[in-house]
Amino acid sequence: MLNFFNYTLKDLQTLLLENGFKKFNAQQVFDWVYKKFQTDFTQMTNLSKALVVWLQEHMYFSGLSEQVKQVSKDGTTKFLFKLEDGNQIETVLMHFDYGNSICVTTQVGCNMGCKFCASGQLKKIRNLEACEIVMQVYYLNKYLYTNNQPLIRNIVVMGIGEPLDNYENLSRFLNIVRDDHGIGIGSRKITVSTCGLVPRFDDWIRDFPQVGLAISLHAPNDTIRSQIMPINQAYNISQLMQAVNKYIKATNRRITFEYILIDGVNDSIACAQELAALVKDILCYINLIPWNPVNNTTFKRSQNVREFYETLRKCGITATVRQEKGSDIDSSCGQLRAKHEA
Ligand code: SF4
Repeated sequence: MLNFFNYTLKDLQTLLLENGFKKFNAQQVFDWVYKKFQTDFTQMTNLSKALVVWLQEHMYFSGLSEQVKQVSKDGTTKFLFKLEDGNQIETVLMHFDYGNSICVTTQVGCNMGCKFCASGQLKKIRNLEACEIVMQVYYLNKYLYTNNQPLIRNIVVMGIGEPLDNYENLSRFLNIVRDDHGIGIGSRKITVSTCGLVPRFDDWIRDFPQVGLAISLHAPNDTIRSQIMPINQAYNISQLMQAVNKYIKATNRRITFEYILIDGVNDSIACAQELAALVKDILCYINLIPWNPVNNTTFKRSQNVREFYETLRKCGITATVRQEKGSDIDSSCGQLRAKHEA
């Protein structure tokens, strides 16, 4: 059986043509699925009987089974889903002034081992398939549609997993969600976050120059970064910055550096100054993130967020402090899954 959520409109047109149906049938099915949130082929009343039978025999919609839903005071909603093979993943819905945003997961667990991250404590079991990533967006859109709320406008690929470590499925996912005939979210409304898999940058520049890229930097030098992010031992800051500069030269796009502030680790004024010197010639902005405590670490939340921000600003660096969302629920990626698998 073929999973519907692995198909762009063009792919579905090809598939239906190959099987004796008309090209426009694909658009009809897409409208039912993506505009009316109907996934029962027998209810798609403008399809021929033959097409309904063929679809029933050859295509299906992968299921996400909702295990837990936590709603924060600010409306941020975190979902724990069970996949068809029993593995669990998390997806977060956030409400901003500029619209609803989803944070999707790309892997079951993560092998990157960042010390401050709940997901890094849960080793990678497998990559998600493209349809399983698409399904997260579809499920939340259906949830919003049913509750008469505006659909998702922004996607951040910052949930569990390192997206560039699952490049093929990430690529297909991006092609499906950007398809105007389906979910239709523009490249510039999507941001993919990587911890710095340098060898994948050339592919990224070639395939997705218009999609936003964020780098999890989290340290101003190799000593600190290697302590908290093992990836830095494979690709150090100098190699990462070379790749970043190549990206900016090729795309002319500003890059985002994410920087989680951890008490006594990377949040001193000296770190802020060193960070400013590191990025001063780079077309970027820095997103400062107050760290959300996770179990099994000795890290503490920084008390120095304002001073760190002001130091960067005085050095002429554009920075923001990320709006905290869902701080009263298990909002750090991996926390909910960790809790329910413990
Ligand atoms: S921060 Fe991202 S890359 Fe690092 S362990 Fe967590 S999920 Fe993986």
